[in-house]
Amino acid sequence: MFELPALTYEFGALEPHIDAKTMEIHHGKHHQAYVNNLNNAVKGNAAEGKSLEELMASISKHSMAIRNNGGGHWNHSLFWSLMSPTGGGAPEGKLAADITATFGSFETLKEQFNTAAATRFGSGWAWLLVHDGKLVVTSTPNQDNPLMDIAEVKGMPILALDVWEHAYYLHYQNRRPDYINAWWNVVDWKKVDALYQAAH
Ligand code: MN
Repeated sequence: MFELPALTYEFGALEPHIDAKTMEIHHGKHHQAYVNNLNNAVKGNAAEGKSLEELMASISKHSMAIRNNGGGHWNHSLFWSLMSPTGGGAPEGKLAADITATFGSFETLKEQFNTAAATRFGSGWAWLLVHDGKLVVTSTPNQDNPLMDIAEVKGMPILALDVWEHAYYLHYQNRRPDYINAWWNVVDWKKVDALYQAAH
């Protein structure tokens, strides 16, 4: 059975950038629903007993319910872990150097990432991922992610931003770009760096 991971910070810990009510509903209702629906969707078929990573890598062989809810579970589990009340600032060390080498500067990476997040039509996610040792910015629709065998751009995500309206509408209404800009203030670069090192 898949389970909702506990947050390592309080619902209100990311304020003023992400408000407590949004966090409470997003984690306790939306993510919990993905977990519940995923558990129901794998029951009694070939997906039962497989790990979430195994499901992502073979998602074309499974149902749309497993794609949507399995993706939802994996994506949100990563998303919570990449934010911290002590986040913000800029990456350091090899990650910072490789970002500069790849994009020209951290500011340019942010611009590319913000564009990917702002222009994803409807619901989806923006990603910074590692593919063949290289850093790549992309976005996916719905709850798809770059681990899925159906993804246009594949790789191991090290940074993820949820741009579904449920992630920001209570506080930011239709102002998705304001939410995106505010979110950089809670990015946990230590965690991103750890994922980057593990992805090499
Ligand atoms: Mn979400």
